[in-house]
Amino acid sequence: MIIIMKPSATKENVDRVCNVLNEYDMGVHLSQGNELTIIGIIGNKNKIQHIAFELMDGVDRVVHVAESYKLANRAFHPEPTVIDLGDVTIGGDSVVVMAGPCAIENQDMVMDTAKFVKSCGAQILRGGAYKPRTSPYSFQGLEVDGLNYMYNAKKAAGLKMVTEVIDEESLENTLEYADILQIGARNMQNFKLLRAAGRTNKPVLLKRGLSATIDELLNAAEYIMAEGNQNVMLCERGIRTFETATRNTLDLSAVPLLKHKSHLPVIVDPSHGTGKSNLVGAMAKAAVVAGADGLIIEVHPTPEKAMSDGDQSLNFKQFEALMRDLKACAAISGRTL
Ligand code: PEP
Ligand code: MN
Repeated sequence: MIIIMKPSATKENVDRVCNVLNEYDMGVHLSQGNELTIIGIIGNKNKIQHIAFELMDGVDRVVHVAESYKLANRAFHPEPTVIDLGDVTIGGDSVVVMAGPCAIENQDMVMDTAKFVKSCGAQILRGGAYKPRTSPYSFQGLEVDGLNYMYNAKKAAGLKMVTEVIDEESLENTLEYADILQIGARNMQNFKLLRAAGRTNKPVLLKRGLSATIDELLNAAEYIMAEGNQNVMLCERGIRTFETATRNTLDLSAVPLLKHKSHLPVIVDPSHGTGKSNLVGAMAKAAVVAGADGLIIEVHPTPEKAMSDGDQSLNFKQFEALMRDLKACAAISGRTL
């Protein structure tokens, strides 16, 4: 349920409504836009169903929100969320590019990749130190050594860093290195991990689960936000369908749909979304034109030798060419890159 205040409502009017809600132990989420104040209400609404909020001074109307996610809901927070990382913002007028290897393999490869992607205009280094691999016999990541290599590279290149956490221990280890915590597709409904990320002050890149609906993705974001962390990005990375010609089916309609349903920034991963490096460029460009706030792209100095996801990784030349095209795509939707 949300209460929309009149444009003429005073602070006292807003406080009175909030006080009544507090008396009934309801969660209150205040969204103060340029014109409107919206009071989002969380909790058992049966407790307040007898109260005629419409009759209170300054109240314009009461709207019932059908969706089970509230904090992530556009109705609760009409203005887009802009995540501020200092010199990089996500969700504003500029499209952000996160690029780097699937996995951190050694110091040199992540250093070279970081410097190269930075020179092409990327702002954030991606890379996995903890790798949730389908097979237990595949390379599982360098863990804390990988975090150190990645941190050295991001510092040297002047980038921010996003890396995956797979459980509470890796989350704890990652906090001192990363600017953004990534929760991967396989952990989208690991509710303990979502809650733990919600108790940190790091922005979270939440990837859509392999077979997750849009509603499930938004409810997963709600788990993080309900713990207090409002800086969540939603990432479309392809879903499992009957189609086997691509690794996943990249659901680009999720971009405008998520932006309609939620105020959170939307990021697209065309690498995992297709599984094929020759398809990455077209889908990256389409994602930007569709309104994505950012991209996360796998780039490797020698994809043919990569320890994971070489088939979908761009080499340096391919990434450089793509970044040139993406600038034009961003301009189509009135943004910069
Ligand atoms: C990744 O980004 O490295 C990754 C494992 O992605 P996903 O969780 O989308 O499979
Ligand atoms: Mn990968």
